[in-house]
Amino acid sequence: MGIVRTRFAPSPTGPLHLGNARTALFNYLFARRNNGSFILRIEDTDRARSTDEFERAIYDDLMWLGLVWDEGPDIGGAFGPYRQSERLKLYAEEAERLISEGKAYRCYCTRERLEELKAAQAAAGKPSRYDNRCRDLKPVDAPPGVPGVIRFKVPVKEVLFMDGVHGLLSFDSRTLGDFVIMGSDGIAAYNFAVVLDDARMAVSHVIRGDDHISNTPRQVLLFEALGLKTPLFNHVPLVMGPDKTPLSKRHGEFSLKGLRDEGYLPEAIVNAVARLGWNPGEGIMGLDELSDAFSIDKLSKSASGFDEGRLKSYNKDAIQIKSSKELSILMGLNTEAAGLIDALKGNASTLRELETLLRPFITGPSPGSTESDELNQEHAKKVIKAFRLALDAIPGLKEESYKDLVEGVKAATGEKGRRLLMPLRLALTGMHEGVELANVLKLIGREEAIKRLRRFEN
Ligand code: GLU
Repeated sequence: MGIVRTRFAPSPTGPLHLGNARTALFNYLFARRNNGSFILRIEDTDRARSTDEFERAIYDDLMWLGLVWDEGPDIGGAFGPYRQSERLKLYAEEAERLISEGKAYRCYCTRERLEELKAAQAAAGKPSRYDNRCRDLKPVDAPPGVPGVIRFKVPVKEVLFMDGVHGLLSFDSRTLGDFVIMGSDGIAAYNFAVVLDDARMAVSHVIRGDDHISNTPRQVLLFEALGLKTPLFNHVPLVMGPDKTPLSKRHGEFSLKGLRDEGYLPEAIVNAVARLGWNPGEGIMGLDELSDAFSIDKLSKSASGFDEGRLKSYNKDAIQIKSSKELSILMGLNTEAAGLIDALKGNASTLRELETLLRPFITGPSPGSTESDELNQEHAKKVIKAFRLALDAIPGLKEESYKDLVEGVKAATGEKGRRLLMPLRLALTGMHEGVELANVLKLIGREEAIKRLRRFEN
């Protein structure tokens, strides 16, 4: 294999989601595996929808995942600029060159005409495509003062390309119609910009979602017309959301930022998305390990479903692997919480859940209104007081203390089961669920337990 150069080319028009993370990851792993370069290119030609905030969020998300790029808008590189909005001149020059070579032409068809054409084609049950009307227009016939768009003259041929995932793919170019490469606003169309950039940036392998397969014949034709070398294409099957539609910006809950805020660790995301259409083996693997195992010919051809339960279980594992000190730093707690974290981390699937478990131990219980109502019930106060008295009566906690205390309260109050245990849990933690009561007692100790129980016994 020659020099490997891959790219991740997101549009800054929304937050990155898990599908994007997988595309970025595979490009990263393939570059690392082959001692190549991983390029970040920002595809911001859609000026109306691209924002600086989304661009910054892309950097944040990739950094957080550890997918460090070798060239990009922020760090530069020998093939820049890496932001498409800074490359418009290049696209315009190349479009003019195609016109002068007779491979492209200006089209002045109005929007109305194109809509009528589309409607007529739809009525006749035909796929919509431009009818190439302006192809042979003489320059003298051009309407004055109208910029027009630039269309590519699609040659009639069978377009063949080898896809690393799907094998040899073939398309009949007659299904295409002459397509727009430059809008009337002078901004390059996606297919044109991508082809010029991939060629100029010496991209060797394109790894991207299946949704771009239909663009690829157009791109291959453009590479050929421009006399540029075609990269090797690899289209990975789309990732389906729980509603069985491809994961997209609509599935906001699976944005990387959203998952980070919920307390997912980057290791869990990386490992979960690595398993979408690939099987590198079991367990949490680091980026180095994953890149050692990566190979395009092991990627699956069929769509993979994203399973939230699986992501949670990776996150649980990732939390277990982290030291309590690392976890306390990640949660912004001081490292004195480390002991508590060690005791509780096995019960949490996300950092958010871990925080919820920790909160009552750190700040004391803060029961909500439902919990307070329950604590105010007669039997609750009775149980709480009996338990406090029993605790007062012993000098310290021993292994078997909890069982003895509960038995004592049962005998003294006649309460049992939920009516006995829930008031105690609520008084000690403020929450209906959480760590086993025996462990709660161990974690906060006798003194603190007495103090908390006193708050609710009258
Ligand atoms: N900007 C395109 C996207 O967001 C990238 C397509 C490509 O990888 O060629 O889908």
